[in-house]
Amino acid sequence: MHFYVLTLFPEMITQGLATSIIGRAMAKEIISLEAVNIRDYTANKHKKVDDYTYGGGAGMLMQAQPVYDAWNAVAAKIEEKGRRGRDTRVIYVTPQGRTFRQSMAKEFAAEEDLIFLCGHYEGVDERVLEEIVTDYVSIGDYVLTGGELPAMVMIDAIARMVPGVLSNSDSAETESFSNYLLEYPQYSRPESWMGKKVPEVLLSGDHRKVDEWRLEQSLKKTKELRPDLYEKWERENQEYFIRKAKREARKRKKAACREK
Ligand code: SAM
Repeated sequence: MHFYVLTLFPEMITQGLATSIIGRAMAKEIISLEAVNIRDYTANKHKKVDDYTYGGGAGMLMQAQPVYDAWNAVAAKIEEKGRRGRDTRVIYVTPQGRTFRQSMAKEFAAEEDLIFLCGHYEGVDERVLEEIVTDYVSIGDYVLTGGELPAMVMIDAIARMVPGVLSNSDSAETESFSNYLLEYPQYSRPESWMGKKVPEVLLSGDHRKVDEWRLEQSLKKTKELRPDLYEKWERENQEYFIRKAKREARKRKKAACREK
């Protein structure tokens, strides 16, 4: 998977994502990351990329031309490689967007290419957003100085959903939010620390019991810390159990008819 980030601060992106799991995934070429400096595309001889807003108001706005040309160059580059260039999804990270979630990370991870646009100052001229952006995504209801941190947050979450990025493919499936439930508590060596012991069941070697305990703990934790998610889990599972009961009732009815 290939990430492209349109930004005024490319070093922030490349340095911020160069280490640990994401850095290794890049070294193994499972993912690639290119931070494109919007300033390199300005037609202004003084390399300016921002200007005052029409109608007055505080602060500067990123202008349409350099953003559009930076996007155009990236889209052309993707097309040269025989991929969907101008149809690639463009995520504008903005506090005005839908809040980023694990389900979105999973959805975006299915794309071959993704382009992020990071705003700065007061944001970006609306006309270029209308022209190139497909998704408006926020990392929460607060305002940051720029889109670089939100883009990094999203790239990290998306990249780890790409097959091969995590060494153990199971670990993303049992994690928090994978099925509305938060992950169960986990323990490592030593068996006893500061008088606190690892729960007995985890040392038992009985995998069925361990799974049952983990589900129980996930439910307990979610109910305590995120009752909103717990409600969703209950609703989803109730519907699942109702559908299952109906299916079984239909099967029983058919079998009874056949016997007659
Ligand atoms: N004037 C804008 C508004 O009121 O919506 C806020 C601009 S903010 C100071 C500058 C840039 O930071 C935005 O263009 C966006 O790219 C990024 N940004 C700030 N907060 C964000 C958030 N919560 N999620 C995603 N991006 C954010």
